[in-house]
Amino acid sequence: MEPTITSKLPNLGTTIFTVMSSLAVQHKAVNLGQGFPDFPMDPYLLELVNKSMTDGNNQYVHMGGLPALRKVLAEKVFSLYNTAIDPETDITITPGGTYAIYTAFTSILSPGDEVIMFEPSYDSYIPNIEINGAIAVTIPLDFPDYTINWEKVKQKISAKTRAIIINTPHNPSGTVFKENDIQQLREIVEGTNIIIISDEVYEHLIYDNQKHLSILRYPDLLARSFVCFSFGKVFHCTGWKMGYCIGPAGMMKEFRKVHQFNCFTSNSSVQFAFAEYLKDPASYLTPSVLLQSKRDYFENIMKQTRFVPLPSSGSYFQLYRYDNITNESENDFAIRLTKDYGVATIPVSAFYKNPVDNKVLRFCFAKKESTLDEAVSRLLTL
Ligand code: PMP
Repeated sequence: MEPTITSKLPNLGTTIFTVMSSLAVQHKAVNLGQGFPDFPMDPYLLELVNKSMTDGNNQYVHMGGLPALRKVLAEKVFSLYNTAIDPETDITITPGGTYAIYTAFTSILSPGDEVIMFEPSYDSYIPNIEINGAIAVTIPLDFPDYTINWEKVKQKISAKTRAIIINTPHNPSGTVFKENDIQQLREIVEGTNIIIISDEVYEHLIYDNQKHLSILRYPDLLARSFVCFSFGKVFHCTGWKMGYCIGPAGMMKEFRKVHQFNCFTSNSSVQFAFAEYLKDPASYLTPSVLLQSKRDYFENIMKQTRFVPLPSSGSYFQLYRYDNITNESENDFAIRLTKDYGVATIPVSAFYKNPVDNKVLRFCFAKKESTLDEAVSRLLTL
C-alpha cells in the first residue's frame, strides 16, 4: 500500500503551462502559450558546449560555479552597471532562474514570514513561499498598465514582512521598472530588515532602447538583495536550465548552504561554454535586437485580427485584450482558441492567486516568423 503524505502544497495542481502545452499537442495547435523559442540558438554556443564536452569538462566544478564563468559574469556586471561584485563570494551558478528564486526564498524564510509580491506573476513564487511555511501577500498590479501602486505596498508592509519580490522585465505583462519604482522601493525598504528578491531573467530582452533598471545598478539595494538570472531565456536554451544568483557575501553564504545539499553544483560543460561565450558582449547585447524584431513582426501581423495589443517593453510576451470579441472568461476562451482555432495562449488570470478576469491573453512571440504567421492566419478565421 502506498504511504499517505501530508502535502506541503495541498492546493497546487499542474501548472497552466503544462496544461496548455498538452492541450496544444492534443489539438495540433500553434503553441504561443509556454515561453520557449522554436528558432535555432546561436550555433557558436552549441559548438562551445560540444567542444567543452569532448574536451573532457564533464566532472563537478566548484559548488558556487565555475570560477571562470563567475569572473566573466562579474566583468559583465561591471561593464553594464558599474558595480563591482566579488565573483568568489557574491555569485552562485544555478540550474535555472526558478531554482535561484526558490533557493533565495528557502535561505531566508521562516514559518509565518510574509513576502510581498505582485500579481499577475510568474507562477513559481507562491509555492516557493508557501513550501517554506511563509505567507504570500499579493498586491494586484494596476490594469491595464500593469504598474505597481506603491501606496498599496506601504499599506501591506508589516513587522512580519521578510521580503519583496520584484520582476523586471515582467512576465506576463512585458512592463519594465522605471526610476520612480526604484525610488519608491528604496523608500520602503530603507532602515528595515526587508530583503529584495529581484527576478531579472529577462535582463537582456528589453526593447525600444529602454534601460534595464537592474538592482545591480544600486549598491544600497544590492546590499539587501538576491538578484536572479537565467541563461535559458536570454540565449534561447530554456531546456538547459542554467542561471545564476548575485547577492552580498553574507546572504550568499546562506544561499549556498541550501544550494550545496540540494544540487551542489550545476552542469559543468555548459558552464565552460558560457565562460567563453560571454567574453564577447555581442553575445548578450544582440538577443534584444532579435526579440524586438519578433515583437514588432507579431504586433504588425496581429493588426489584421480583432485582438487589441497592450504595450510590451520586454520579455518573450505580449498581452492582447479580447473584450471586443467575446465575453467568455480568459480560461474558457483560451481553451476554445486552442481546441477550435488551433492557437494556444495563456490566460492572464492563471498568473493570479485570486483570479482577476480582465479578458486578456498572453502570447509568446519568441517564435519563427512562419510560426507567428500560421498562428495569425488561424486567428483570422475567428
Ligand atoms: N522568472 C520568470 C519571470 C520567468 O518567466 C521564468 C521562465 N518562465 C523564470 C523565472 C525561470 O527561468 P528558468 O527557466 O531559468 O528557471
